[in-house]
Amino acid sequence: MRILVVEDDAGIASGLRTNLQQRGYAVDVCDGVASAWSALRTERFDAVLLDLGLVDGDGSELLRRLRLSPAGEAQASVLPDPATPVLIVTARDQVHQRIAGLDLGADDYLTKPFNVDELDARLRALLRRAAGRTSPTIRHGDIELDPAGRTVRQKGKPVDMSPREFSVLLVLLESRGRVLSRQQIEERLYSWDAAIESNAVEVHIHHLRRKLGSACIQTMRGVGYFMPQEERS
Ligand code: CA
Repeated sequence: MRILVVEDDAGIASGLRTNLQQRGYAVDVCDGVASAWSALRTERFDAVLLDLGLVDGDGSELLRRLRLSPAGEAQASVLPDPATPVLIVTARDQVHQRIAGLDLGADDYLTKPFNVDELDARLRALLRRAAGRTSPTIRHGDIELDPAGRTVRQKGKPVDMSPREFSVLLVLLESRGRVLSRQQIEERLYSWDAAIESNAVEVHIHHLRRKLGSACIQTMRGVGYFMPQEERS
C-alpha cells in the first residue's frame, strides 16, 4: 500500500516515513501543496496523510482540489482520484477546526502530537473502508490475511512470507476480480526513490503461488495478474 505524506516538518516527515515503511507501506513525502498536487496527478496513492500548515499554503486547499476533481468514467484509471482517502494530521486541535476538516472531505482527523500506532490503526480503517470491507481481516477461499498483524494463514495454518510478498498479496486481494498490470502492482509497492528490479513482481508472484497454490493468482497473458472473485462476497 502506497501512502503520500504531505508534511513540511522534516523531522515529523522522516519519522513517519521510517515508521510506515517498517509497517510495510511504500511512502512518498511532499512538503507543499504544489508538489503534493503534482504527485497526486501522476501517481496513485492508497491514502494521503495531510498536514495543514505547509510551505506554500494550506493543506485544506489541496483537499478541496482533490475532492472537486472529476471522477471520470473509468474511475480506477483517472488521476487524481477524488476518492483517495485523506487523514488530516495537524497541530490544529480546536473542535471547529476538526469539523471544518472533516466537512471539507477528510476521512479522518488526528491532532499532533500523535501516537504512531493509533495513526496506523486509523490508516488501516481508512484502507478497509476504501476497499469496501467490513471485516478487519481479508478472507479469500482458505486464505486469511490480517493487515494489522501482517500475517497470512491458509486453512488456519500460518504461511511464512517476506514483507514484499505480503504486500503483493494484499494489493491483489484488495483488487479481487480485477486484472492488475505489473506496473500497477509496482506503483502500489514502491516509492519514487526505491530501486525496482525489472522482474521483482514476477518473482514475488512465483513465490506466492508456490506457497499458496498455483491457482490462487492467475495470469492474463499480456495484461497482468488477478485473483478470481469468489462466488460469495
Ligand atoms: Ca506544518
